[in-house]
Amino acid sequence: MVSKDFIELEDKYGAHNYHPLPVVLSKGEGVFVWDVEGEKYFDFLSAYSAVNQGHCHPKIINTLVEQAKTLTLTSRAFYNDALGPYEKYITEYFGYDKVLPMNSGAEADETALKLCRRWAYDKKGIPENEAKIIVCEGNFHGRTITIISMSTDPDSYKGFGPYTPGFEVIPYNNLEALEKALEDPNVAGFLVEPIQGEAGVFVPDDGYLKKAYDLCKAKNVLFIADEVQTGIARTGKLLACEHENVRPDILILGKALSGGVLPVSAVLADDDIMLVIKPGEHGSTFGGNPLACKVAVSALEVVKEEKLAERAEKLGMLFRNELAKINSPMIELIRGKGLLNAIVIKPTNGKQAWDVCVKMKENGLLAKPTHQHIIRFAPPLVITEEQILEAVGIIKKSLEEM
Ligand code: PLP
Repeated sequence: MVSKDFIELEDKYGAHNYHPLPVVLSKGEGVFVWDVEGEKYFDFLSAYSAVNQGHCHPKIINTLVEQAKTLTLTSRAFYNDALGPYEKYITEYFGYDKVLPMNSGAEADETALKLCRRWAYDKKGIPENEAKIIVCEGNFHGRTITIISMSTDPDSYKGFGPYTPGFEVIPYNNLEALEKALEDPNVAGFLVEPIQGEAGVFVPDDGYLKKAYDLCKAKNVLFIADEVQTGIARTGKLLACEHENVRPDILILGKALSGGVLPVSAVLADDDIMLVIKPGEHGSTFGGNPLACKVAVSALEVVKEEKLAERAEKLGMLFRNELAKINSPMIELIRGKGLLNAIVIKPTNGKQAWDVCVKMKENGLLAKPTHQHIIRFAPPLVITEEQILEAVGIIKKSLEEM
């Protein structure tokens, strides 16, 4: 079978909820992926920052294989010998009292929302069913009904109502709006992405997160950071909140927590928040399974051992500097932090971001447009300086050929 055949299969038998670039991948290693015809590409999406440690990282895969032969799933009806050590490891790693393990990013966000609401009633004393959570315009926290209820993107929410109440949407990167929203005594939490990834890599002003955190603290409101995409070294620090020395009250992680090997997500918080949820009140069959636990420990070890945060910081700077040297009328703006970057594309000669991505694919680099006019560039963090320069060469050539 060739690429066309696989694409036809997906088209015929799969739901049409994605619109992939026309490339069929069958192998990955480090920063590279190969298609079924054997063509090699730089992966500049990294499965939306899930593959920070690089494709099929040998250490993580070895852990996966070993644990898969030993014990994969017990459910939380029983204890297992991987969960406790993982919980100790990840809580010490990120500096929290407790972790609640889940699978997808959306589930972890839902978990954080439940935690926040329960804390509001049990600890803050907000009247039952009246807790509000402030969220930001342009947010992306996943695809569940509750999460799309706070989305401002019609593609996400339109036609899926009725929506879950209890959210107030304010503009992102706007402290006055936050301050005003916080005047409501029924506000329990502020849920924010330190950089809005899916919205197109929107980096807020310096000082925004710190000031937002301080405003929340002054009103006894939980600062909840969704670091599903920005966390785990992507932006040049272990967590993007660290750029402003902010320690979220509730931290949400996913994606690269498994190095892109399994769906593994987590919510971290201290005891006064986490212990409001009691046995039977939340859970997941697969959350905290031994396979996920072992893989996550390995994936986090790789981040430290290979200094991925430092690499992201240094190579991100190089990447943006090199992109800035490209002289193309299609580049309207370059922005990002660490190795989470984007180019805003100015449509030229009827060509859009999608066409640039198709051209880059032809030239050996995979990236995906977000919102038609933005291309996100997020390679695995194991990329080398030489590879960054080579990749920028491909981006330059592709823009020139448009
Ligand atoms: N939160 C953020 C910030 C994300 O970027 C994403 C996915 O892109 C999610 C949550 C949802 O994660 P998942 O697709 O694993 O449910």
